[in-house]
Amino acid sequence: MDKKDLEREFHMAGGDGETSYARNSSFQKKGSDMAKHITLETLQQLYKETRPKSLAIADLGCSSGPNTLSTIKEIIKAVEVAHNNEISNQPLPELSFFLNDLPGNDFNSIFKSLPDFHTELKRDVKNGDFPSVFIAAYPGSFYGRLFPEKTIHFIYSSYSLHWLSKVPPALYDEQGKSINKGCISICSSSPEVVSKAYYSQFKEDFSSFLQCRSKELVAAGRMVFIILGREGPGYVDRGNSFYWELLSRSIMDLVAQGETEEEKLDSYDLHFYAPSAAEIEDEVKKEGSFQLESLEMLEVDSEKGNVDDDSYGNEVAKTIRAVQESMLVQHFGETILDKLFDTYARIVDEELAKEDIRPITFVVVLRRKL
Ligand code: SAH
Repeated sequence: MDKKDLEREFHMAGGDGETSYARNSSFQKKGSDMAKHITLETLQQLYKETRPKSLAIADLGCSSGPNTLSTIKEIIKAVEVAHNNEISNQPLPELSFFLNDLPGNDFNSIFKSLPDFHTELKRDVKNGDFPSVFIAAYPGSFYGRLFPEKTIHFIYSSYSLHWLSKVPPALYDEQGKSINKGCISICSSSPEVVSKAYYSQFKEDFSSFLQCRSKELVAAGRMVFIILGREGPGYVDRGNSFYWELLSRSIMDLVAQGETEEEKLDSYDLHFYAPSAAEIEDEVKKEGSFQLESLEMLEVDSEKGNVDDDSYGNEVAKTIRAVQESMLVQHFGETILDKLFDTYARIVDEELAKEDIRPITFVVVLRRKL
């Protein structure tokens, strides 16, 4: 699948049904809640420094579901607090929110919840003064330009930047066949060229991302992003990459049962990369227009064994399904999904019984240099 197709096809499961992203994004919610103090303090600091009458805020990779608007709500409250602490005799700033995601995102479900959201905002107001809030959608890839120059004050992006712009082209030989056989991303069995290809795609993408954002942000504008990552320099660990390795194993299981063909597994590749802290820092330095204000590592504590009646494996399976379903259906067809994720849930539980799995999250704060 080329880049254009990918931009068209990739989306989280829309709507609010049982397998939707809206109902299966509590991992991402937990992570952004853990990072919330960093997000909001950065925003308040920016507001104090720049005090604009109108504040423009972008959420890149906003998806759909409760996470999208709950972030906006927190941001509005944080600006109100910063404003009232500093300059309470002035009117509140106007707030514009620009919601970005790929065009296949279920923007409509966000739009439909906006009237209730605005009503709720007004209800929460204590002293009769509430900010004007404008919400707009900006569909498109964040690896290209999204906004006019120097128009955005604050950019937020949660659990999106580990998605590359495309599957690294170096993963395919001259005949167009994937060299990463039996595996859908970087696995312990992958040849070294595979991890090199992914890393080089990350560098290219992340530097385009930084270049675009540096044009769009005002001087001293801030960017907070939350991204899946790796703890050390090794490409393979018992963290995020391990979850994909287990998905590869689950597909292999279906191949063995004759549910799908080996060739299909070989030709399926993710456009995902979990960078290390050093890799992020290197690109920020190289691009040059941002100062790294902070980089923190979080371990989002998995709800091992205590979520409703579900096993942990089942929880992971639902999370991964909501994220990957659009791509899997394209490639393998819809019929394998239930069986695939039953198998996956079982394998995750079996692995967890052997040894912990620790997915790492980074929270990165960047400041646009003057
Ligand atoms: N921010 C939300 C959603 C995270 S899911 C939350 O924290 O819950 C990741 C989102 O990033 C998906 O909706 C996906 O479509 C989006 N995404 C991935 N690549 C993108 C790109 N190149 N441009 C814009 N959005 C992208």
